Amino acid sequence: MPCAGRLLKSDVLRRMATSPSTGLTIPDLVGEFGVDILSAKAIVDELQQENLLRRDESGSYHLTEQGQVRARLILRAHILLETFFCDYLKLSVASAHHEARHHEEATTQLLAIALEKYLNYPTRCACGLALP
Ligand SMILES: [Zn+2]
Ligand SMILES: [Zn+2]
Repeated sequence: MPCAGRLLKSDVLRRMATSPSTGLTIPDLVGEFGVDILSAKAIVDELQQENLLRRDESGSYHLTEQGQVRARLILRAHILLETFFCDYLKLSVASAHHEARHHEEATTQLLAIALEKYLNYPTRCACGLALP
């Protein structure tokens, strides 16, 4: 789903967690999220400084080991929050996605596990992403 407005670090990590073995380039991010090159580059630079992404010789970015752990938690948190917002709070899929984007980074492992249990172990979110 494209992001309305600003690209978040968690958008990039979440996207990379859906296909951890394939690298992503700046033009990929620009195309997928509809943001400009400079903001995509700024986010990727920040993630690289935090040792969550590394760049290969061809200019593709990949998750580091630390990045994989973080990205997986963010994707799990996003799907669980989105499911909760849709199914229990009755938000539209678009609103649930928007709200999940703003809470996924703050979601701890403990909360994700509790939510997963409460939601009775969902396997996918409303827009079809599989829970890792
Ligand atoms: Zn979503
Ligand atoms: Zn979704």
